[in-house]
Amino acid sequence: MANRKLGLTGWILIGLGAGIVVGLIQYLLFPENVNTVIIKWVHDPIGRIFLNGIRLLVVPLVLVSLSLGTAAIGDLNKLGRIGGKTMGIYLATTAIAISIGFALAFLVRPGTGLSIPVDADFGGGQSPFLMDIIVDFVPVNPFAAMVEGKMLQIIFVAIMAGLAIAALGKKAVPLVRVLESADLIIHQMVKFIMMFAPIGVFGLMAKVIAGEGLAVFLPLLKYMATVVGALLIQGFIVYPLFLTILGRLNPLHFYRNVYPAMIVAFSTSSSNATLPVTMNVARTRLGTKESVHSFTLPLGATVNMDGTAIMQGVATVFIAGVYGIDLTAGDFFRVVMMATLASIGTAGVPGVGLIMLSMVLTEIGLPIEGIGIILGVDRLLDMTRTMVNIVGDMMTTTVVAKSENEFDEEIYKA
Ligand code: ASP
Repeated sequence: MANRKLGLTGWILIGLGAGIVVGLIQYLLFPENVNTVIIKWVHDPIGRIFLNGIRLLVVPLVLVSLSLGTAAIGDLNKLGRIGGKTMGIYLATTAIAISIGFALAFLVRPGTGLSIPVDADFGGGQSPFLMDIIVDFVPVNPFAAMVEGKMLQIIFVAIMAGLAIAALGKKAVPLVRVLESADLIIHQMVKFIMMFAPIGVFGLMAKVIAGEGLAVFLPLLKYMATVVGALLIQGFIVYPLFLTILGRLNPLHFYRNVYPAMIVAFSTSSSNATLPVTMNVARTRLGTKESVHSFTLPLGATVNMDGTAIMQGVATVFIAGVYGIDLTAGDFFRVVMMATLASIGTAGVPGVGLIMLSMVLTEIGLPIEGIGIILGVDRLLDMTRTMVNIVGDMMTTTVVAKSENEFDEEIYKA
């Protein structure tokens, strides 16, 4: 079994590498029309089938595992404690992330002295009103929420159902049995779909690289390097510190355990779509108990986005620099608040970081058109920041599970 698992993650890595190589060869050597045909008939369908396959499990997974997770925690005290710790770490890491983004952007100053044409693709007016985000938390119709995939609303319904199950005790046992069985079935389906992951990851990667090449990234290299640098600091300094200090755990084991989910996050650019895989990794490799990760991970996929927060910080400084606008201390504070709240209110799907950015820019009065400048390179950055987003969720899950003694260190170290 262990060998087969190792085999699958190994194959996913090979799919990733092969996708990059094939995409690059195609981009550099093939005529554009041939390239387009291959992308349209081969890479894109393969990638989308895989993506649809995991996405189709997300709504049932969140609903079932979060209600079971909430019910399993049972008493309100414990739920409050786990919820409090989880949200505390989610918020703290997000605030740290934006600050790192700011600090690095200040050192590098990626936007000064640049005059880059604005890509008119991104119109303004996309930013939702803040209070609506909070009101929207409570759905009018739970089925509509599920059909439309509104994660925050589904989370609300699932937690409320879990609380009701816990309150009813014995009377709710029949439904709990059904949910437990549904949970097993969903996890089995995840396993089936993951067998297709190496090919799916290949398709997703080959499509991006063959379609965009590497040249589009050149003018914005400094901006990209700043974002990636901040992501690396968050991923390889901040999280290991949390794991070592709060969790008293060796971070090396952690990264060896979570990297399969990182690859899927990288190739799908979606924390939500990666959720079935992060759950699977938590269950089989991290050693956290069901009662913790079935609560913290679905929540994190929607509310915790440290990588995206880093991008908000760097992009704000960058866009202000391009337009020659000075930011005040008050602006920074508002960006931190806004980016943190916006990350709670928006689901982890591809490109949502740009919509959050439009809210942040509006808040401090920077021109929204600035987003047009970074639009072209956002695809690749979305991939990298999504990886940090889900690693943050799994780090928090590990630390909370350890502190609650809902943790099997043997599995973690195995
Ligand atoms: N794609 C990111 C995620 O799913 C969100 C974003 O930054 O656009 O986590």
